[in-house]
Amino acid sequence: MKTAAPTVMGKRYADLRRLYSKATIVGECVVADRLFWNGAQFVNAPRFAYEAIEGPLKKEQALRHTCGRGDCVNPYHMRVKGAA
Ligand SMILES: [Zn+2]
Repeated sequence: MKTAAPTVMGKRYADLRRLYSKATIVGECVVADRLFWNGAQFVNAPRFAYEAIEGPLKKEQALRHTCGRGDCVNPYHMRVKGAA
């Protein structure tokens, strides 16, 4: 049986697993290094986690943490700035 090539979703899932495997749970927060290697470059870890779950953001869209922890990579603790 032929193995399928990794899909975009497959890579995203593998990257997320790698990110969360190095993270620490603090209360409801998931705390990780702020920079994450995505295979090509270092990127902002919270933004990476958010985009992996919620979909890509436009460059000009910034995130704010509802939990107040800038190093939290729990996507549910982030909102797009200016959005409701
Ligand atoms: Zn948090």
